[in-house]
Amino acid sequence: MSENEIYDLIIVGGGPGGLTAGLYAMRAALKTVLIEKGVPGGQMALSDEVENWPGTERITGAELSMKFTRHAQSYGLEILSQEVVSVDPGLEYHSVRLANDTLLKAHGVIVGTGGSPRKLNVPGEEAYYGKGVSYCAVCDGFFFKNKTVLVVGGGDTAMEEALYLSKLTKHVYIAHRRDAFRASMILQERVKAECKIEVLWNTVLTAIEADEDGVCSVGLQDTVTGEKRNLPTDGVFIFIGFDPNNQLVPAGIKMNADGYVITDEKCETNISGIFVIGDLREKYARQIVISAADGSTAALAAAYHVEIRKAAAACALPEGL
Ligand code: NAP
Repeated sequence: MSENEIYDLIIVGGGPGGLTAGLYAMRAALKTVLIEKGVPGGQMALSDEVENWPGTERITGAELSMKFTRHAQSYGLEILSQEVVSVDPGLEYHSVRLANDTLLKAHGVIVGTGGSPRKLNVPGEEAYYGKGVSYCAVCDGFFFKNKTVLVVGGGDTAMEEALYLSKLTKHVYIAHRRDAFRASMILQERVKAECKIEVLWNTVLTAIEADEDGVCSVGLQDTVTGEKRNLPTDGVFIFIGFDPNNQLVPAGIKMNADGYVITDEKCETNISGIFVIGDLREKYARQIVISAADGSTAALAAAYHVEIRKAAAACALPEGL
């Protein structure tokens, strides 16, 4: 990789979408670089177990991420461990600027930067992050061995993470703001069957308190009666959804009111040659398999786009020759 190198395709983000795009781009013989600032795999790498990747009944998120990465690299995909600071559309080429100030250019750019855990914004959440407040059970669960933790949320993530935590901890509370979960039935059933998990329905968190050892209790409020109480707990795990990581989406690209990027069926944005995939893209559901499908779609569409751009450039060449 050098400053003056022109790529066919630059992929920003190495989650399941980006890695699949890399695989398809290499198989389509596109000169491609994938840029990821963290560990390849994204959110998938943080999943304890993945049970809905077709053809594989059970695999850890870390192992599946490794397989995605190795598969793409086996076709020669270049993976750059760098932070991207901007994606800038251009007429001839689109540009991607890195944190080390290197400027890369390409005919096509695929952005798959995913989302970040949503914050509750209650007192104590920010102050005690890393001291008992966490957004990742696989990363931090170990620190709560034989302790009591409280999970917030009622979606698939909250269920999966509560189940994971129940294997390590003494007791898991799930505080959910209404009287029904939105998680898939299979996960709800597993949560119900786990005797270490206790659900606190119609309950919101109002504050997180800590002593010198870290989090020690939470303030809770019943959303029906308004009753307030304090509950001792050693940890708080918050899983209330994701916000799209849209900071790199260039100005002028259409997004919906929630900040997800609107694309066509090729995953192409309203700027030709800029594609958005995975959890950052407006869509019905967010799954590994859907991000992977986005990645393959975008890479195939990008291959066509690159071909047209190169053919157009070749037609324009004779004048200067
Ligand atoms: P989600 O489905 O959006 O669920 C968020 C949960 O947090 C909801 O129960 C919501 O309550 C609650 N919530 C939101 N804001 C809150 C607030 N301010 N205070 C209290 N509670 C709040 O998010 P997710 O569970 O992270 O899942 C995201 C996507 O990934 C979903 O499409 C999910 O299906 C998918 N996913 C799939 C799997 C799998 O298939 N194995 C695993 C993980 C995630 P309400 O229900 O009242 O709105």
